[in-house]
Amino acid sequence: MCAWCGTKFLVGGTVGRPPKYCKRSHRQRAFEASKRGSERGLGGGEVLVDATAWATLQDALYRLEAAVEDVATDLADGLEPRSMVDGLVRTCSDAIAALPEPIATGVPADLGQTR
Ligand SMILES: [Zn+2]
Repeated sequence: MCAWCGTKFLVGGTVGRPPKYCKRSHRQRAFEASKRGSERGLGGGEVLVDATAWATLQDALYRLEAAVEDVATDLADGLEPRSMVDGLVRTCSDAIAALPEPIATGVPADLGQTR
């Protein structure tokens, strides 16, 4: 799984260390975010994201929570599940698309002292 975007990818060959990123641009973006995180003093596990992107994600998750509650209620009322799938898939897709990309990341503790 790519350490930047979370996408699963196939690893070709077995020589050397397995790659952490699905493409070079993601390795570069992770490096740059880590550098900015280091400059800003972020600790391991800390992530800095854009406030607007964060608010967009919160809104998408709020709508997803409401959609899940609606589906649970509809199922409890005995409605046909197929009729709920389209709306739930759309709401899930919106939430997935709202995941913000980090501006800066903290260096994990196990990597921070080895350089
Ligand atoms: Zn990736």
